[in-house]
Amino acid sequence: LAQLTFSNRYSGLPASFYQQRHPGPLQGQTALVAVSSDAAALLDLDLCRQDQQQLLDLLTGHWLPPGASPLAMKYAGHQFGVYNPDLGDGRGLLLGEVVNCQGEYWDLHLKGAGQTAYSRFADGRAVLRSSIREFLGSEALHHLGIPTTRALAIAVSSEPVRRERYEAAATLLRLAPSHIRFGHFEHFCYQGDRTGLQVLLDFVINNLYPQLKDHPDPAAGLLAEVQSRTVRLVARWQAYGFCHGVLNTDNMSILGETFDFGPFAFLDHYEPGYVCNHSDDRGRYAFNRQPGIVHWNLVCLGQALLPLSDETSIRAVLERFADEYQQQYQQLMAARLGVDAIQDWPLVVRFLALCEAGAADWTRVLRLLAEGQLERAGRLMQGDRNQPLQEWSRWLQDWQQRVANHWPDAEVRRKQLCRVNPCVLPRTGMLQQAISLAESGDFSEVNRLLAVLRDPFDPDGKLPGDLAGPPAGAVSPVLSCSS
Ligand code: AMP
Ligand code: MG
Ligand code: MG
Repeated sequence: LAQLTFSNRYSGLPASFYQQRHPGPLQGQTALVAVSSDAAALLDLDLCRQDQQQLLDLLTGHWLPPGASPLAMKYAGHQFGVYNPDLGDGRGLLLGEVVNCQGEYWDLHLKGAGQTAYSRFADGRAVLRSSIREFLGSEALHHLGIPTTRALAIAVSSEPVRRERYEAAATLLRLAPSHIRFGHFEHFCYQGDRTGLQVLLDFVINNLYPQLKDHPDPAAGLLAEVQSRTVRLVARWQAYGFCHGVLNTDNMSILGETFDFGPFAFLDHYEPGYVCNHSDDRGRYAFNRQPGIVHWNLVCLGQALLPLSDETSIRAVLERFADEYQQQYQQLMAARLGVDAIQDWPLVVRFLALCEAGAADWTRVLRLLAEGQLERAGRLMQGDRNQPLQEWSRWLQDWQQRVANHWPDAEVRRKQLCRVNPCVLPRTGMLQQAISLAESGDFSEVNRLLAVLRDPFDPDGKLPGDLAGPPAGAVSPVLSCSS
């Protein structure tokens, strides 16, 4: 860890971009809860025991690697549709940017590192519960092929912090090529700081989108790139049932990655209107509203870039969203059923309608179809109804015909379909079990899930009983936003 090479580009920006700040050390007894060796490999780290002690000291704010230059970033953003100028890293610090041996840059961001100038009245801490959820959630998303920030490790301390109850304070070391958010651009735009906005645009283009260096309209060019990455992201969320929960513009990454995990959840039963965040009483961030909200957020980014471009160009980019999204979403959903995205789309729509009507555990149904276990899939679709499902039988017949056409060889088909239909997801109930144990000092379940979630598309992976999801008819979980 002491050998990491730092190249702190962000800290070279003007002082208005951040507050320099050191982590506030966690008091009391501390322990490392889990480490992702996959994430460590991104930094060329192969952590031995001695490194683990150092990692714990780093996570708990007692040691900084030489070359780190910790700071809290300033940003703003639209929260639930309302602009808030007073945001920024209130409890996370960018420790520095590390360059690995392949020349890739990774931000080291310590979440839960104590108060900063942007903490408002909050304590600057994170709790164990939400740190475990982000850790397992982001590593799992990565292995599902969904763009996301990564998580290197979690530490816990005996220091209590107050939420709805007293909980243990924890920290999470997050990795991402950048922590710049849509809200960074909004901040400079609404401050009326055109120079700051230009500096930010140049920084983002030079460091993250160098292909745009000679673009005739760099601001509109950036919006187009960010939009296509974000479309790719939200199409995957919708195709795999990921509900983010707090899609404020300060939680939108300029790299189109899943960012700032809060009360996120994967759908258990197929329920398009599902709202995972209990503070979201109007359902603004319901599962089926995510594509529309993401577009709204891109409009905010476009608005913030207006001083550096012109309305016609910005509008022209934003108008392409709906077509790009629909095309990608259809591709992904059709691939999960092994059928054609255009010709067979009605078949996909009928499938989703059946899942919705039966409140079926669609992830399992899709995996069973992939494995060729049609009767078990049928039983899941049937739920606790005792009538045979005529609609389902008709659909199954039509589907079998189409896939047999598409993939005549059953074994080739099974392998191909398993490659896009996971046998495991980080479901809320599973995470909750791991959290309960961890809160009593037993981290084994967190570590077991970390291992299990690494290989969701294993063609020979079974649907293990304990990872199967809740029984039919169970109420979908609603999560607290406090973290
Ligand atoms: P979030 O809901 O985690 O996306 O956070 C929204 C804003 O509140 C960001 O500016 C955070 O840094 C800040 N924030 C959230 N929780 C805390 C906390 N416990 N202490 C200080 N700031 C916080
Ligand atoms: Mg946030
Ligand atoms: Mg946050």
